[in-house]
Parts: sequence; C-alpha cells; structure tokens
Amino acid sequence: MPWHEGLNLRPTDCRLQGPRLGPAPVQNQRMAEPASPPKEKSAPQKALEKMGLRRDIDLALHLPLRYEDETRLTPVGELTHGQSAQCEGVVSEARVELRPRRQFIARLRDGTGELMLRFLHFYPSHQKTLVAGAKVRVRGEVRGGFFGHEMVHPVFKPVGDDTPLAAALTPVYPTSAALPQAYLRKAVASALQRAHLQEVIPAHLVKPGLPPLREALHELHHPPPHAGLASLEDHSCPAWQRLKWEELLAQQLSQLIARRERALRRAPAMVAAVGGLPEQLLAALPFELTAAQRRVGQEIAQDLAQAEPMHRLLQGDVGSGKTVVAALAAAVAIDAGWQCALMAPTEILAEQHFRKLVGWLQALLEARGQTVAWLTGSVKGKARKAMLQATADGRAALVVGTQAVIQDTVQFARLGLALIDEQHRFGVAQRLALRKKLEGAGHEGRADSGSAAAAEPTVEPHLLMMTATPIPRTLAMTYYADLSVSTIDELPPGRTPIVTKVFADNRRGAVIEHIRQEVARGRQVYWVCPLIEESEALDLQNATETHAHLCQAMPGVMVGLLHGRLPPADKAAVMSQFSGGQMPVLVATTVIEVGVDVPNASLMVIEHAERFGLAQLHQLRGRVGRGAAASVCVLIYTPPLSDTGKARLRAMAETNDGFEISRRDLEIRGPGEFMGARQSGDALLRFADLQEDSALLQHARAVAPRLLDEHRQAAEAHVQRWLASRVDFLKA
Ligand code: ADP
Ligand code: MG
Repeated sequence: MPWHEGLNLRPTDCRLQGPRLGPAPVQNQRMAEPASPPKEKSAPQKALEKMGLRRDIDLALHLPLRYEDETRLTPVGELTHGQSAQCEGVVSEARVELRPRRQFIARLRDGTGELMLRFLHFYPSHQKTLVAGAKVRVRGEVRGGFFGHEMVHPVFKPVGDDTPLAAALTPVYPTSAALPQAYLRKAVASALQRAHLQEVIPAHLVKPGLPPLREALHELHHPPPHAGLASLEDHSCPAWQRLKWEELLAQQLSQLIARRERALRRAPAMVAAVGGLPEQLLAALPFELTAAQRRVGQEIAQDLAQAEPMHRLLQGDVGSGKTVVAALAAAVAIDAGWQCALMAPTEILAEQHFRKLVGWLQALLEARGQTVAWLTGSVKGKARKAMLQATADGRAALVVGTQAVIQDTVQFARLGLALIDEQHRFGVAQRLALRKKLEGAGHEGRADSGSAAAAEPTVEPHLLMMTATPIPRTLAMTYYADLSVSTIDELPPGRTPIVTKVFADNRRGAVIEHIRQEVARGRQVYWVCPLIEESEALDLQNATETHAHLCQAMPGVMVGLLHGRLPPADKAAVMSQFSGGQMPVLVATTVIEVGVDVPNASLMVIEHAERFGLAQLHQLRGRVGRGAAASVCVLIYTPPLSDTGKARLRAMAETNDGFEISRRDLEIRGPGEFMGARQSGDALLRFADLQEDSALLQHARAVAPRLLDEHRQAAEAHVQRWLASRVDFLKA
C-alpha cells in the first residue's frame, strides 16, 4: 500500500504515471527518438525533462537534498516538539469537526501515549483509512499542541502486524511543483538500476580513498539505517567526496578541451595604424582615460592583435567607464578594416550606447565613408532594411543593438569583433546563439577565402564581454571555459561616494520629503519597484500605484512611469524626457536596472529592497552618483526581514565597492547560486563548492591534463557522463 503523500498524490497517480520499474528493453529509452506516432508525455515526464533529467545517468546523478528516516518507529510517549518522526498505533477515534473550522481529526494510541492527527483538507480516502480500530503508520512533524502532541497533514498508511520498516533511509530529492516526490523517487531508483556506472577513470588517477562511483551512488540514494545522517547531509562523507571530485574533474576536463579547441581556431589579427581611429577617438573625448581604462585598453588591443580569437571578460564597477573602453576596442577593429557589433540586453541601454557612440565616433567614421547602425526589435520597415543593407555591405562599421543583432537575418560583411554589454543579463542560450553566429561570421570577408583549402580553420570574430557584476577570479575560471579577465579597478575622478540609507516602509513620508528637496534643487530622482517574477501584473500594479501616489503627493512635479509592458516608442519617449531633464522623477520597474546613464540623477529609491539580489541592488544604486553631486540611495524594506535579507541590506549600507559586494554575495549565497541562475543548466557546479572543496579541485586540476593526454577516451566518456546536456553551456 503506497503512502498517501499529503494531498498531491493519490495512489492512482502513481500507477498511471509511474515510470516502469525493472530493466527497460532499450537503454536510455527516454532519450530515444519516439517511434511513430509520438506518445503524449505526462506532466511529470515533462517536468523531468525540464529539470534536465533525461538519461538514466542524469537521474542517477540527481542526488537527495536530505533523508527521511522510515527505518524506525518512535513511541508516541517520547515525541518532542519540532521533531520529524514516524509512529505506529491504533486509531482510537476519528471524526470531522466543524469548529473552529472544518477539519478531520484522528487520535492514535500506541500504549505509550496519544497523538492527534489533524487534516484541514481531506478526502473520503482519509476517513476510510483512518477509522477507529485501524492500525496505521504515520510520519510527519510533531507539534506540541494545546491538547498534547499532534501532526498536521502527516503521511499515513495502514499496516498489518508484520509490515516491514524501510531498509534504507528515504531520499528527498530536489524537485519542482509539477513533479511529485514519490514519482521522482521511483524514477531515480529504477534509473539507478539501469544506468551504466562502471568506472571510466583509470584507478591510479582516481583520488585515493574515494569509493567507486557505483558504490557511492547507491549509498547516497539509499543509505543504510546506520549511516551517519550528519555526514551525508553536510556532504562530507566519502561517497559525497567521490561525487564532488567527479564533477570537478568533468569541469576541468571540459575547460581544457575548450581551451585546446580554441587554440586551433583563427580570428583576424588587428593592428591599428599610427594616428589611426583609436588615437583620433582619444583626442575627441571630453575627458582623459583613467589609468585603469588605459591598462585594460592595452590588454584588449594585445589580444586583438593575435590571430587567435579573444575571449575576454571586461569587468568594472558600475560607472567605472567600460563603454569608452569598448569604443576603443571597436576603433581598433574598424581601423584594421573590420566590422564591430555591440549588443546590449535592453532596448533602452542599446539606444543609450548608440547615442554615446554616435557622439564619439560618427564624425570620425563619416570621414572614412562609414557609419554607426542601430538595430533593435523596434527598428522596422524601411529603416530596418537600410540598416541591414549597410551591415551586409560593410558600410556600417559599428552595429549597435539588442539581441536583434544576432538574428539570422542579420548578415555582416566582415564581422571582426563582438562586444556584449552587461553580459550577465544575457541568458546562456543567447550567449550560445551569438557564439554560433560568430563562428565563421567573418569568413566571407577574408580576401583569400575563395581559394582557402578545406583544412584551413575558419576565421571567427573576437569576443569581449562586459559586466558590472565582478566575478572572483577562481570562479571565473571555473564557470567559464577559458576566459581572460580584465578589470577596471578605479572610478573616473571627481565622483562623490553614494550614501546608502535603509528605511522600513512606514517611513515613506520622510522619503517623499527628501524627494521634494532634491527636486527643488534641480536634481532628479529614480524610484524603482521590484520585479515580482511570478506575476508581471502585480509588478505593474506596484509601480502604477507608487506612480499615482507620488503624483498626488507632489502636485506640479512631473513624475514619469516606465515599465516593461510599455511599447518601445513610449519607453524611449519617457526615457528621453528623463535624460533630457524635463522629468524630475521617474518611477520604474527594473527595466532601468542596467547601464542607464543620467548624471543629474542624485537620488535612488528602491522599494521592497529585500526582494532584490545584492548584485541587482548594487547595479540599481549605480544609476546615481554619476555626476559631481552627492548622491543618496534609499532602500525601503517591508519587515520582517529574513537573515539573508538583513545581510544584503547591511552589505549595501556598508560598502560601495562592487568587488566587496560581490565577495559578500558569494558569502551569503554560496558559489552554486552565484551566477544568478541556479536553475537547470546555468549553475555548473551542483555538488562541489570551490572554497570548501579546494583539495578536490586541486587534485582534479592536476589529473585533467594527464587524463586527456594519456586516456583520451576515458576523459571523453567522463565528460559525456557528467555534462552531455551541458557541454554547450560550458562554452558560453
Ligand atoms: P559603466 O562602466 O557602468 O558602463 P559608463 O561607461 O556608462 O560606465 O561610464 C559612466 C560615466 O562616466 C559616463 O558618463 C562616461 O562618459 C563617464 N566616463 C567614463 N570614463 C571617464 C573618464 N575617464 N573620466 C571622466 N568620465 C568618464
Ligand atoms: Mg555600462
């Protein structure tokens, strides 16, 4: 008799949708192309695939978060409040009560005491199983209720005199709402039986002291009753160590493979002429570069001069001046006769870049018969055609846009350099699409491509990614295959540090007063409302209400509203009124998060600050403090704050340094979540922790090259086993 798991899963669900037990006739059946006609997939099956659990090995490597102990019974008389326990006894009484609310209550006795079982939602099946006189086993969290101990919504099942206890601890897996735990448990158990778990790494290269993979996996999925729960759950036992080591090794190997592959590819070697475009640009700028900007500019120029594709991350705090460094890199490429593409995550940001770059470069380009093109989703009709034409014939030396730039319809004559701004905002899929487009994109433009021998490597553009979310070096090396990092560690001179204040939301009145004062001084103000991921509608409501409230509280002051649902033309209109200074106050959802540059803005109010991540808060704060005026950032939170919420707001109040913020973020969240996407593919290390497991990492790093050189097949099999579905992510 199956357990009744809460209310999510009735017994029939298991039978109808449960994976077949026992060996499958075809290996990796789930992977196989469906024979005709394709069967409709059940919801849990789809949920499995969505979580990347396709192959048997994927399921076998899906490890428990924690365990439930169904191997023993606790006498009712020994229960304590807060404990999670399993008890067995006879139902002494069962009835539906109507007050204080409708609920089903059963009392369980085992000779040592009485336990109340309480169900606020229940089905006839509850009443059928939990009748007076029935012997049942129940499991749940114990609460010290007014009338003695109770369990609310325990799982339960009828038992006989000799119903055996579980032989192993029961695993609890990470899952999603669409995937019942019981279904996943069965799917993992049967996949574990089928999966090929033979050792692929030669024994002398495995870290000494670790158990074989098969043994480790069986232990982690079904630990024996005597297993130490603590070392299982804190991942310190040898079985976990083996899994972490395997994961780290797979990662080191895939990086090494990527690095070696890249060394074989070709990119245009670009050297700017003396007195060429970069020098002309520098002379035309209204400011001097900082020392840090000059240094990273040189690092980039050195890469561009090589015939090997650059793959470089340019990181620098918000406001550190990355755009001009990108413009310099573009100037080098253009001077050497190549085209350059600059891609930004939002239309607003792309447009701002466009304006800035036009201001800096257009006159210089026109003198050479060239131009800057502007390409986003909202550029349509004739204008779009003209832009596409200029891009295809090479007249557009620099093409600025959103991801529209990477669409298939856009052809470059000689793309030599791709710049991605705020790259952390682009999804992995977009980064991959770009890389695919880049491969061979510059090919047509090569003078000798017509006669090139087939064996000659294709030419691809250099790639420069920019981010204001700095990545600690060890992380960068682990998360991105083969990435060089340049860092701007200095802000342009004359900036006054931003003061950050944290207010509970009952002090809104004081904040509005502060806004009035800033506006009276001719300054401008942002008020940002959070993006509530589950509901765009709610998100909008929040911003709309705040907007109405501010309009009312400050009659005569122009208050704008900007959110993701506005048509692009309206967005642009609002943004230009704000950046032009006519609009003193702008209420916005997080569409303004990245890169917007309005130096006259001196006050940033962030509502529901507790809902934002630390990196995002820092990004938002960076929208002010761009001019000489002293700027303030006000973080409004709604109590009560969680511990991590507190830690984040404290970090914001204590430091303005993006690198320090990033370090604290890592501390608060752990590297697994660091890259902002712990879903499916993006969090590349599921098990290992770079700091905690540095000994394992060192071993894996040392073994990887030997494995690749001396046991190539084993190395490939290992990467395949661990990363088959993620291998692309590693290159992104
Ligand atoms: P981010 O690194 O956040 O992208 P931006 O490139 O938008 O920063 O630069 C922020 C502001 O600083 C812009 O207005 C830019 O023109 C200005 N700026 C950049 N470099 C310098 C510099 N060396 N001296 C003075 N102002 C600069
Ligand atoms: Mg920027």
